[in-house]
Order: sequence, then structure tokens, then C-alpha cells
Amino acid sequence: MLSPKVHGALNQQINAELASEYLYLSMAAYFESQDLKGMAHWMVVQAGEEHQHAMRIFDYVNDRNSRVNLSAIESPKAEWTSALEVFTDAYAHEVKISAMINELMNLVAMERDGASHDFLEWFAREQVEEEASAQLIVSQLKRVGDSGVGLHLIDQQLGQRGAK
Ligand code: MG
Repeated sequence: MLSPKVHGALNQQINAELASEYLYLSMAAYFESQDLKGMAHWMVVQAGEEHQHAMRIFDYVNDRNSRVNLSAIESPKAEWTSALEVFTDAYAHEVKISAMINELMNLVAMERDGASHDFLEWFAREQVEEEASAQLIVSQLKRVGDSGVGLHLIDQQLGQRGAK
């Protein structure tokens, strides 16, 4: 069984991962509205990864003989003014999620829950990749600035993203 504090925090993290999925789907919908199909595709793949993150915790909570409690998912932001603004938001979002994972790791250490600490290490490593991939795209978008050709090339490149 998980301690009440760890149980509550993991349920909250399931909600945060599902809210991330929802945010990335909202970003995909925005890109579809702009006919940036490659970026929309990238966001759909990203949303799928967030779903997997949520399910990883869902399964873990069950494995620890504790009950998963699902709570309401906030409506995601839906409007942006540029691809750069979207990816800047995505990067900031991943930084926020990394901070949540670090908080969780502190909590499980205080609760002397070694198994949960071990479980969360995968997420801490995953966040390094999540931040790096969003940051790289922000950097590329800044470099091309207002160039339509540049935006088109990045859109094509992001359309190649495979599912993990
Ligand atoms: Mg995630």
C-alpha cells in the first residue's frame, strides 16, 4: 500500500499527465487550423506519450494495491498567435512537469518509499528528453523568424516524428 500522502500525490500526477495530453491535443487542433500538418502530427504523438505516462502511474498505483482516483481535467489553452508561441508554451509546460516530478521524488524520499523513488526515476530521465526536444524546436523557430520557407521546412521535419 502507498502512504496517504504518496497515494494522493500519484493520483494528482495522473491528472497532470492527462492534462498534458489534453494540452497537446489542443495545440494539435490549433496547428490543424493553421494547416501546419507536421506540427499537428508532432503534437498528436506527444499527446499519446502523455497518455502513456498517465497509464504508467495508473498501473503502478494499482500494483501497490491502492485505488486510482480520477479528478476533473482542466480545459486547456486553445489559442496562440504563432508556432513559436505554442512551442514556447510546450517547453514551459515540460519545465513545470519536471518540477512536479522532483517534488514527488522529494516526497517519496521523506515517506521512505524506495520503490516509488525507483519508479519515478524513469520519469525524471524522461523529462530531460521532453525539455530538450521542446527547447530545440523553440530554438529552430526563433532562427527562422518570419520566414515562410523556414516554417514550412520545420513543419515537414516535425511531421516525420515517429511514435515511441
Ligand atoms: Mg509527461
